[in-house]
Amino acid sequence: MGEALTSLLLGLDRTEIAALVSEAGEPNYRAKQLMDAVYGQRLETLEEIFTLPQEFREWLAHRGMTVGAAQIEKKFVSVDGTVRYLIRFADGQTVETVWMPEGDGGEAGDGSEAGDEAEGSSLTSSGAKAQVQSSEPIAALKRLATQNQNQDQTHTQKLQDARRKPDRSTICISSQVGCAVDCQFCLTALLGVKRNLTAGEIIGQVCAVLKDQRVSPPEDRVNLVFMGMGEPFLNYDNFMKAARLLVEAVGIAERRMTVSTAGIVPRIRDFGDENIRPKLAISLNASNDALRTRLMPLNKKWNLEMLMAAAREFPLRTREWITFEYVLLGGVNDEPENAREAAELLRGLRCKVNLIALNPGPGIDFSTPAADRVETFQKILRVAGIPAFVRRPRGRDIYAACGQLKRTVEIPSSPVPQLHHIRHLS
Ligand code: SF4
Repeated sequence: MGEALTSLLLGLDRTEIAALVSEAGEPNYRAKQLMDAVYGQRLETLEEIFTLPQEFREWLAHRGMTVGAAQIEKKFVSVDGTVRYLIRFADGQTVETVWMPEGDGGEAGDGSEAGDEAEGSSLTSSGAKAQVQSSEPIAALKRLATQNQNQDQTHTQKLQDARRKPDRSTICISSQVGCAVDCQFCLTALLGVKRNLTAGEIIGQVCAVLKDQRVSPPEDRVNLVFMGMGEPFLNYDNFMKAARLLVEAVGIAERRMTVSTAGIVPRIRDFGDENIRPKLAISLNASNDALRTRLMPLNKKWNLEMLMAAAREFPLRTREWITFEYVLLGGVNDEPENAREAAELLRGLRCKVNLIALNPGPGIDFSTPAADRVETFQKILRVAGIPAFVRRPRGRDIYAACGQLKRTVEIPSSPVPQLHHIRHLS
């Protein structure tokens, strides 16, 4: 394993860590301690791992090993509590990761436990949004107040934590720097793909955000969506390795994770064969091939017939539905006829549709649809028996909402730095 082994601990799985421990001549149980330190406690340096003897830590350092934690370079906080992180990796490349306290409603209606929570807290039965106050934070405060009367310092800290911890939250993760898919409504496409993220860099985003938010799964309910920058299914092996480690080592249940693809058909089939896997979302965005090819050129390679065949054959688990994301672009794909076509495409599938009205942003040639168009579109789908939800925009003021420009980078041909990344809208 010597040559193949990266010098970063974050991203190594159980087998690779065990091999490292064995190479050091340490007893087997050190592997569990190391896994727990890196993924469970999310420690960032070897010096902090007090469960390991000094000699082993020195051996690791001598071997060139570091934890490889991702660094938060910038943080933008929205008035609605959403936080957009600019995360930097060892080679200086950056991606964006978004923290949404109370989630973004994206899981609503997908049949899962996380979906029930989202549906219950953010959507009325008619699909209109209505924030429902949860009693959980109050109950948590009361519990803490009675339990910790003599522990002044800790008590105060815990109360503060309980007060600030959301009922459930969602982290939106990037899988690549840039993207090769070229969706016409997405400025990330202008970057092309700079490189894939490693499994460690994918997990590193989660660890950095959990640590910054002082949240710890599984005690705290955290949902993950692989919907940030990049197409996860074009970085399949690293994405899957990260997903497995997030389940097995970080403690986030697979039913709390959703991966979204623009429609890489062969990988959808591979994904269905995985033992441990997140839920599947497919970025549809159009109701016929001509329109989809215009908006998402990859449709030339994997057209709607191929995509829908893969979706119909996808092995769904109990209480699992496929989510189809549909970004509504004013006057382009939001006609009632588009809604009827989409309903026809999805007929008979165990699925639901998330409608996302394009959020405004500089540099996007498409416009936000009128509210009544969104409502009509949703109604047509619902009347056809397809659960359809309108995603609640989060963090618009910090460019963190779905469909907004997301990342401040300089586009090579551009004379001025531009806000650049529109979040993967799938
Ligand atoms: S929407 Fe997603 S798949 Fe399409 S170009 Fe943007 S990041 Fe890539």
